Amino acid sequence: MEDRIKGLHHVTAISGAPQENVDFFTKVMDQRLVKKTVNFDAPDTYHLYYGTETADPGSILTFFPFADAGPGHAGPGMASAYAYKLNPKAFDDWMVHWAEHAIDFDGPVERFGSRVITLRDPDGAPVEVAEDAAAPDHPGLFHGVTLWLDDIGPTRDLLVDVMGYGEAGHESADGTERLRLATEGDAPHVDLLRKTPDHIARQGKGTIHHVAFRAHDDADQLEWRDRLLAAGMQVTPVIDRQYFNAIYFRSPGGVLFEIATDPPGFTRDETLADLGKGLKLPPQYEGRRAQIERILPEIRVGA
Ligand code: ZN
Repeated sequence: MEDRIKGLHHVTAISGAPQENVDFFTKVMDQRLVKKTVNFDAPDTYHLYYGTETADPGSILTFFPFADAGPGHAGPGMASAYAYKLNPKAFDDWMVHWAEHAIDFDGPVERFGSRVITLRDPDGAPVEVAEDAAAPDHPGLFHGVTLWLDDIGPTRDLLVDVMGYGEAGHESADGTERLRLATEGDAPHVDLLRKTPDHIARQGKGTIHHVAFRAHDDADQLEWRDRLLAAGMQVTPVIDRQYFNAIYFRSPGGVLFEIATDPPGFTRDETLADLGKGLKLPPQYEGRRAQIERILPEIRVGA
């Protein structure tokens, strides 16, 4: 089996109304809606997946748009941000592009020697874009994810000792500490952040719900599950998520982690060319399609 986690499979967040979410991620961030399905645990709510044109691993950002979710606040025990990576040669052009479209952003600030800007999605959640010399000239692939923790140690130990990450940098200034962990190749990193919270942490719209790491296949996932159990984690059984199999566990610092398999992937029920076009339901809900379609608000892509 692999000794190191391959990187990130997806990041899942909670949003408000779906149309604003679709408009922001398809127009402002120029991502592709690669899957339009429902929350398998609450099928009256969409589950929207964004990614690159080819839905590459390490590009998948998903949302549960809960129309009546209260506003959330990131804080210790939650993933607080994800970052897209962007080639330095294209970074200035994209900043100009966003400025010309009256899209506000903070920064750039310098983090581990690279510029980072922070846009805000319609729910006020941060959308970071970081320079990376190995990145494409279009945002889409993740640069990394940030986990906000009261104590970096236990989560660091899990990611390093069990999941195979290595320490790749440490920054500390103004009461804020950031430890960067990296896995193989150009896979997205995980930053562990410790700083004084300005709000009580609360899950709600504008917050990240969980972070999913990649497993090659079902066998690899089961081996990771055994390792995590041996390390004292309480891991769910394998759950069929139609496009991947998933296991979930609460990491020591409180962030919900998932390990998801690469197969069968998003072309399981529509072709690459058609990804995101139709409302896709898993078999258990296909019989309720008419009712589900009546309840879900209409969303338009590229309108
Ligand atoms: Zn997930």
